[in-house]
Parts: sequence; structure tokens; C-alpha cells
Amino acid sequence: MKKFSCSDAGASCTAQVTATDEQDLVRQLTQHVRQVHKIEPNETILTYLVSKAYDVGGGSR
Ligand SMILES: [Zn+2]
Repeated sequence: MKKFSCSDAGASCTAQVTATDEQDLVRQLTQHVRQVHKIEPNETILTYLVSKAYDVGGGSR
């Protein structure tokens, strides 16, 4: 599991995204950035945002 807080990326936004894996995270972040921040995320932005996400423990895998 991966968890992302928009505020960790420097946005004044309290949204949090929880995803099962990096692919899912990218998909959800893309939607969030489009809907809430009204920008079309490019690869640079997505890479940056993903780097701000952290793994949350689910025990063994
Ligand atoms: Zn946000």
C-alpha cells in the first residue's frame, strides 16, 4: 500500500490518497490533480508526487 498526502508535496490541500501500488497511485493522483488542482499532470509532476508518497505497512505483502 502507498499513501500520499497532498500537503507533503507542498500543496495547500488536505487530500490523502491511498493506493494499492504505484500504478494505482499514479492513476489516482492524475484524477486528483485534474479535478482539484485543475491542471493536467505531466510525467515530471507525477514522478515528483509519487516520490512524496510513502509505503504503509500491510504486514507481509
Ligand atoms: Zn491536492
